[in-house]
Amino acid sequence: MVVIMKPGTQKQDIEALAQKFESQGLRVGITNGVGCSILGLVGDTTALDMDKIAIDPHVERVMRVQEPYKKANRKFHPEDTVVDVNGVKVGGGNFAVIAGPCSVESAEQVTGIARDVKASGAKMLRGGAFKPRTSPYSFQGMGEEGLDLLLEAKKATGLPIVSEIMAPRYAEVFEEKVDLVQVGARNMQNFDLLKEVGKLSKPILLKRGLANTYEEWIMSAEYIMAAGNENVILCERGIRTFETYTRNTLDLSAIPAIRKMSHLPIIVDPSHAAGMYWMVEPLAIAATAIGCDGLIIEVHNDPPHAKCDGQQSLTPEHFDQVMKKVESLRAWRNTMD
Ligand code: PEP
Ligand code: MN
Repeated sequence: MVVIMKPGTQKQDIEALAQKFESQGLRVGITNGVGCSILGLVGDTTALDMDKIAIDPHVERVMRVQEPYKKANRKFHPEDTVVDVNGVKVGGGNFAVIAGPCSVESAEQVTGIARDVKASGAKMLRGGAFKPRTSPYSFQGMGEEGLDLLLEAKKATGLPIVSEIMAPRYAEVFEEKVDLVQVGARNMQNFDLLKEVGKLSKPILLKRGLANTYEEWIMSAEYIMAAGNENVILCERGIRTFETYTRNTLDLSAIPAIRKMSHLPIIVDPSHAAGMYWMVEPLAIAATAIGCDGLIIEVHNDPPHAKCDGQQSLTPEHFDQVMKKVESLRAWRNTMD
């Protein structure tokens, strides 16, 4: 971190500030330029509050030279992290497709879809039991019963299950029943929830918030990691832009950017990005070609009658076609990597 002092600041004021940083365990290098001095802070500055430093009447400006995230930072952990979801690996060259309905609706529905997506090559089953809906009058999910139906589908197929947690009070039940705990876009900055899932032994799927930067997203992963859970998979699911034709705008730049910034795996959700079933296939192909570590795709046996997100759900037959294309693209990528 670099602290630029105001022109004309007295030597004793500069030294007093330097001493304050030194008493916090940092080393301070003072450079006296023409008219102004600069303090270079060396050491772990992650816990320093830049705004508090800027309040000092002698301080002109404060700048970070390093990112505020440490555990998620590629610089301190050059190798890719591989997250193991009950035997299914994601990251470091391991590619996995997660598929299933937006919401769990019945035992037949979710087990039937689980069988279909497994036959097409999906490695995990998704299904919402607690749904974050824009309207309080929309279907809110089956709650814990939905998790039990996912467990039945897991028993029938062996697929690990992925489901969204909406509140810290459900941490215990998710720890017991779910293999990969999803934190949804709307909760990406629910810091209490992030701290709570950071205490779980289960890996976390952290979706990008609707209007969050890469750094904010990685800082949310940092919350989970700082609480003790280093098994985090990031998921780009489209962001809010001025475009209204699609539900969201899929930000494919996130894949190379996150790869550079962090060692955590990154997967893509083309379903929530597009909001339209016919656009899921090209977006899934593009994301695979650019090198994501996996996909999460909504699949429903009867999309027109789905209780949630039918408009963006693939039929099992369509999903099967998409998987064939995705698999051949993966083979092509393996020749490049
Ligand atoms: C979902 O996965 O069903 C979901 C609600 O996703 P998001 O949080 O990305 O909107
Ligand atoms: Mn959905």
